[in-house]
Amino acid sequence: MTIPFIDLKTQYNALKESINSRVLKVLESGAYINGPEVQELETKLAQHTGVKYSLACASGTDSLLIPLMALGIKAGDEVITTAFSFIATAETIVLAGAKPVYVDIDPVTFNIDVTQIEKAITPKTKAIMPVSLYGQVADMDEINAIAKKHNLFVVEDLAQSYGAKYKNKRSGSLTIAAGTSFYPAKPLGCYGDGGAIFTNDDKLFKAMKEIRDHGSESRYYHTRLGLNGRLDTIQCAILLAKMERYDWEVEQRQKIAQNFNQAFAEIKVPGFSYPKVKSDRDSVWAQYTVTVDQREQFQKKLAEMGVPTTIHYPRTMPDQPWYKEHAPATGDISKARWAAEHVISLPLFPDMDRATQDKIIESVLKAVR
Ligand SMILES: *Cc1c(COP(=O)(O)O)cnc(C)c1O
Repeated sequence: MTIPFIDLKTQYNALKESINSRVLKVLESGAYINGPEVQELETKLAQHTGVKYSLACASGTDSLLIPLMALGIKAGDEVITTAFSFIATAETIVLAGAKPVYVDIDPVTFNIDVTQIEKAITPKTKAIMPVSLYGQVADMDEINAIAKKHNLFVVEDLAQSYGAKYKNKRSGSLTIAAGTSFYPAKPLGCYGDGGAIFTNDDKLFKAMKEIRDHGSESRYYHTRLGLNGRLDTIQCAILLAKMERYDWEVEQRQKIAQNFNQAFAEIKVPGFSYPKVKSDRDSVWAQYTVTVDQREQFQKKLAEMGVPTTIHYPRTMPDQPWYKEHAPATGDISKARWAAEHVISLPLFPDMDRATQDKIIESVLKAVR
């Protein structure tokens, strides 16, 4: 038996009837763009997240770029973000014309180290873009307090934390704007590229909606610079079906993670650590990521035992070749660099049965020895 890193087939089989009938309905309707499922999904997402507005969009990348554009982030501006994330975070800041200013991470949660943010602020700073990495919301109260003091916008990148709770509020509802991804492997994924934006702000909602559709205020009347950032009706139909059991899926992820945590708490090998979630929040476990000293060896041993792993991420964003040259780090990001060398993610998906969980645990215990 080989374990998949993520099992989307079992999930599809569980939701097959609903997905198939919803997709067929769209196919027969002919409303492939802006069909009624788009608004239906947006209403569901907004309710689930606890915000006034949600906008479905073409990708997680667009879900970050559109808010930055709508907030007026432009050339000459600086946006503070974490050094350790998927590249889209820094990429959208650059695409908006601004300069990403990277802050180091808290090596326990892998999220931005809030004690390092204020020293990165300059007169050019316009926004902070924290990432809720691996499924756990960043220290948003502290980030919002700093932003308020310095008059900055905060845009949460919740591509990995849709549905996560922070002090009884949902990820995506904590900042003026926030963006998530529905890439298939994300906790809530569609069957292609997709994303969504969240906000409570009326004016910003209007601006983001226009930007999503080529900056048009009405048909063929373009009052802003925009892009084609719409989400297809079919993907919205799929997401509506997926949302039917999303809360259950999150519970399953949390149970599996707890099972892993309990087993790995017994490991006393130096250099091994399992993920920690702060007590005032939870995680939707987009990734279950441990750190090990001898990563290559550990990964090889697990592969031999039939356990696939992935490195999220092998380089910090500013250490990627293009960024080294055009958008490099200026401050100390040594903890992010340490993380890039030590993190390794294990398989975790909602339909993972107990035998598979036990096999993973057993293999990890053997591999660290
Ligand atoms: C996946 C991801 C994105 C980008 O989402 P896409 O849908 O792939 O464009 C942005 N930020 C983070 C942290 C991600 O994990």
